[in-house]
Amino acid sequence: MTEQTIPFKAEVARLLDIVVHALYSNKEIFLRELISNAADACDKLRYQSLTQPELTGDDPDPTIRILLDPKGRTVTIRDNGIGMTQDELVENLGTIARSGTAEFLKTLSGDAKKDTSLIGQFGVGFYSAFMVAETVEVISRKAGSDEAFCWRSSGIGTFAVEEADKSSRGTDIILYLKPDEDEFLEEDRVRHIVHTYSDHIPVPIFLGDGAGERLNRPVTLWMRPRQDVTKDEYTEFYRHVSHAFDSPQHTIHWKAEGVIDYTALLFVPSFKPFDLFDPRRQHHVKLYVRRVFITDAAEGLLPGYLRFLRGVVDSEDLPLNVSREMLQHNPVLAKMRAGIVKRVLSDLVKLQDNDPDGYAQIWTNFGAVLKEGLYEDQENRDLLFKLCRFRTTTTDSPTTTLADYVARMKDGQDSIYYATGDDVDTLARSPQLEGFRARGIEVLLLADPIDEFWIPSIDAFEGKALKSVTRAGIDLDKFSPADAASSDAPKPDEDSVIPLLAAIKAALGDTVKDVRASHRLTESAVCLVAAEGDLDIRLERLLKQQKQYDGASKRILEINPAHPLILKLTERASAGGDLNDAAWILLDQARLLEGEPLPDPMAFVKRVTALMAA
Ligand code: ADP
Repeated sequence: MTEQTIPFKAEVARLLDIVVHALYSNKEIFLRELISNAADACDKLRYQSLTQPELTGDDPDPTIRILLDPKGRTVTIRDNGIGMTQDELVENLGTIARSGTAEFLKTLSGDAKKDTSLIGQFGVGFYSAFMVAETVEVISRKAGSDEAFCWRSSGIGTFAVEEADKSSRGTDIILYLKPDEDEFLEEDRVRHIVHTYSDHIPVPIFLGDGAGERLNRPVTLWMRPRQDVTKDEYTEFYRHVSHAFDSPQHTIHWKAEGVIDYTALLFVPSFKPFDLFDPRRQHHVKLYVRRVFITDAAEGLLPGYLRFLRGVVDSEDLPLNVSREMLQHNPVLAKMRAGIVKRVLSDLVKLQDNDPDGYAQIWTNFGAVLKEGLYEDQENRDLLFKLCRFRTTTTDSPTTTLADYVARMKDGQDSIYYATGDDVDTLARSPQLEGFRARGIEVLLLADPIDEFWIPSIDAFEGKALKSVTRAGIDLDKFSPADAASSDAPKPDEDSVIPLLAAIKAALGDTVKDVRASHRLTESAVCLVAAEGDLDIRLERLLKQQKQYDGASKRILEINPAHPLILKLTERASAGGDLNDAAWILLDQARLLEGEPLPDPMAFVKRVTALMAA
């Protein structure tokens, strides 16, 4: 095959342009990135060889080597991992594989200085090789194949691919160093870099060919006692396993001994991963068996609502040749999962006291995901309730647990009141809340879509039912108003609105389920509520958006007998005046306040126009 020259995809070209031209303060991280890729390649081979043992042949032990050639001025990172086919070389090294990179590129400002520091924090994987090399050659032979290919580029515009000779499986990354980068040819410098960034890599890293000198520690990081692992070591390990560039927000490391034995090292990231709301809800914790990598994201190892965790679980009990099929419904895996979930949740409960700010950050990032556990994991609901924080009408940030709420409930209050919607600030202004506020009754403000789902799955918390403020049948009159002034105000005479209610009912017909005098309104004239037994208004809207429901429940229109407008209309109703237009405008107003679309905006505009003209 002759050499093929292929242009880089636009994003890669852009990234490379920054990498090649920017001045980096810590170029040495290129080695960390290439070693991390090499270790991943070994893991991938290990996983495939579970079902195809012939792939590893007579070279079964995963190994990474760093070869220094001061004469040729090259640094080679060699692995005997999965390798790449010709197509994979083109695909993996010519387009952006890392999902975060594209997102990251969008955040770049174009200002070289700023972008360089950003990129330093983010890391650019394979492309970081171009920080130190003027030419990079990747010679790779895929496991199971006897063909090898060479990918070559100077990082500007294009790369070339051609057939190559390679006697063993895996990948060589050969860096032809830039003139000023001789330091990376020094053994001591390389030793130091590997110690600093890659000591934790669970694949042996050797300096030189043959027996070589092992550079990373033979004891796998997670098997070391907690007190012997430094914060920096945890951070570097976290970055490797999670392909992330932040520092973990929280680290949980423990050994379980007893019925089943395993070690777990789990991290809570400090930012939201890009795929947090991917519908597959896959977790990202690697499974090892006695220090040997088995698989990423073993199904069943963690529940979907803990998918934000990163790290490893290493089992002493599973067989080494455990296959994907064996893992499904495996009792050992199920027991590990139960143990891990309990441990993680209890740990987070403690964190609330030990590091309240840290926990608050975790809740901000992952609260919406943790709440999925409320309906998914009945068994751990009590623990989850200790973790769930809510914003309420009396708090500005999500700090209230349900237990706090219950402790603050008013005398005689037997329900937990909540309002759901798209965003808390809009929610806080809902007319339905007016009566609650006036009586000093706290209401939970729930704005995550998931809230619509866990709430119906919960009958009660500490014996208190959860009730939506958009429901009819809430008797607020048994609570006295919060401020004395309004309690002295004369109560509107409800009987006086009876003719108005009748007139509105007659006008609206069966568009609404009922028209009633309201106890929940103090400032607004009208609002819509759901009848007892009907779908809650906002849940129905959400289900419609998700195309899971296409019905339309009829609502109850509540009117505020004390409102000046209603007083005026009442007078007109008693005098036998025409209330047809007014009734429809009131209903449309209530719909607008509720965020419901108007079924006939033209009619609404016509009526309002007529009214204004009059
Ligand atoms: P990332 O590792 O985050 O996916 P990179 O840009 O570092 O991003 O690498 C791109 C892809 O190239 C990897 O996902 C992998 O498929 C492939 N790759 C890189 N290095 C190797 C290697 N040593 N062996 C096999 N495949 C590799």
